[in-house]
Amino acid sequence: MAKVQGRRAFLRLAAAAGGAGLLSSCSRGSGTSAAGATTSGATNSAGAMADAAARVAAAPRVTGSPSPADWTALGHDLSGRLVRPGDAAYTVSKRLFDPRFDSLHPAGVAYCRNPHDVATCLAFVRKFGVPVAARCGGHSYAGWSSTSGLIVDVTPMAGVNVSGTTATVGAGTHLIDFYNGLAAHGRAVPGGSCPTVGIAGLTLGGGIGVVSRAYGLTSDNVQSLQIVTADGQVRTCNSSTNADLFWACRGGGGGNFGVVTSFTFTTHPAGEIVLFFLSWPWSQAARVISAWQSWAPHAPDALWSNLHLAAAPGGSVPSIEVGGTYLGSISAASAQLEKLYAAVGSNPSSPFTQTTSWLHAMLVEAGCASLTVNQCHLPTQNPEGQLSRASEYAKSDFFTKPLNSHGIGTLLSGVEAFQRAGGAPGASGGIAFDALSGAVNRVAPGATAFVHRDALFQAQYTTTWPVGSAPAAVSRQHAWQQSFWQSMRPYASGQAYQNYIDPALANWRQAYYGANYTRLTQVKASYDPDRVFTFPQAV
Ligand SMILES: Cc1cc2nc3c(=O)[nH]c(=O)nc-3n(C[C@H](O)[C@H](O)[C@H](O)COP(=O)(O)OP(=O)(O)OC[C@H]3O[C@@H](n4cnc5c(N)ncnc54)[C@H](O)[C@@H]3O)c2cc1C
Repeated sequence: MAKVQGRRAFLRLAAAAGGAGLLSSCSRGSGTSAAGATTSGATNSAGAMADAAARVAAAPRVTGSPSPADWTALGHDLSGRLVRPGDAAYTVSKRLFDPRFDSLHPAGVAYCRNPHDVATCLAFVRKFGVPVAARCGGHSYAGWSSTSGLIVDVTPMAGVNVSGTTATVGAGTHLIDFYNGLAAHGRAVPGGSCPTVGIAGLTLGGGIGVVSRAYGLTSDNVQSLQIVTADGQVRTCNSSTNADLFWACRGGGGGNFGVVTSFTFTTHPAGEIVLFFLSWPWSQAARVISAWQSWAPHAPDALWSNLHLAAAPGGSVPSIEVGGTYLGSISAASAQLEKLYAAVGSNPSSPFTQTTSWLHAMLVEAGCASLTVNQCHLPTQNPEGQLSRASEYAKSDFFTKPLNSHGIGTLLSGVEAFQRAGGAPGASGGIAFDALSGAVNRVAPGATAFVHRDALFQAQYTTTWPVGSAPAAVSRQHAWQQSFWQSMRPYASGQAYQNYIDPALANWRQAYYGANYTRLTQVKASYDPDRVFTFPQAV
């Protein structure tokens, strides 16, 4: 079976136990990404910012495409690198995380070293009417951090500066560097598990991670952020300054309101943490699902858990596995796990529990248990990087009620159907549930733009395939996923996770944002009235 992505990497069990193999969440190998620029947290002077903003405001709108000389001039105006078609770096620079977007051909990729560079890019795209997309980790499931125009890449603005209990983090920081930078100071912020996901995309859409039940979403921990809006202004946003934009940037989704250049987070102590990974035979799957959904969202906040059902093409039996973390002693964690075993009516066939350091837990969750932090990167992000890019289709749901027996039956049938779906050799298909409630649901739905505050758990339907798989087989996998998701309509809440952005979702406004959508459109109208930032599901 293909390697499982993100926090669905249940092969972590083997990794955590010291096993070998291909255990990376975002895949290990010889892949490449679009990053590769240098680190700089520097910002330019206020005078330079004002100058850039003035240029945006004053720039006359030119009809027609920018000439090669115009692009050359842009390159000269940037302190970071501008990569254009024909440049040696272009093939790598234009890439996103998923190879299925390699056919996209941006007219330029600007590696922005500071907010002034971002403002310069925005002046350029406004002047010439060039499409623009911000890019951080490049993990957009729809490829919407690329464009036919100019990619504004923020990865040179990477770095973590901890001061007391707060951390200011460059918007271009990748998750594993985020965790590493915080852990060096004994601090933590909740986030996702895929190490190469960017902090900007993750935070702007929410950020669901292993300690979210204790510490909330990544976006719930933002105290303040810096953003360059379409007019070229560099704005600080917090609860008292640009408060409406601050509200929108906590769950309103990446790419909508401007280009964020840094975040300031509230941090938490990063002590030791218990990891657990459990599995049962597929014959017990209905009992495990029933028990897990009554246990995981109602456990103490210290416990976070996910449930993963996965299948491969052909005849092998699907798998069902439970993983998670506990903030406390291993004996207290075991007491919680005993409740799950009792509800299932049997012990797991391969229980694994371990107390470990925070950073090691993040590496294990990332699928990098046997790697160093440097190795837990794509080769183009770090010369020692051992991860590779991977392809995946994803859809999502939130569930506000436990599944009844019909729902569980539908779920099992959906996973089993992947075996007969005609997928590519080495493909996988499944569903991963993340327990919610706890700190996530203690925030009011309208307090930030992240509206999903009443779910017991969130689900991601995924299917992956090896690079080079036959397109017809991949299409059959996609059809299986759509059909599986469709079959779960009677049981799901109708909401969807904006960070698992889904081009096939017809009612995305309601599904991602619910009652918050109207306010988001008002913020959009205030800060980007000309819709400089747009993509098919833009606010
Ligand atoms: C393998 C994998 C694992 C994942 N695991 C998790 C997980 O554990 N938890 C979770 O919550 N999510 C997870 N996600 C979803 C992830 O949070 C989103 O895909 C997120 O948008 C990715 O952010 P990025 O910066 O990597 O992507 P990008 O593609 O660079 O950006 C995503 C969106 O944000 C915009 N954007 C990027 N940078 C900026 C910026 N500086 N300012 C404004 N807009 C910007 C882009 O234009 C685009 O619209 C996972 C995704 C993948 C592919």
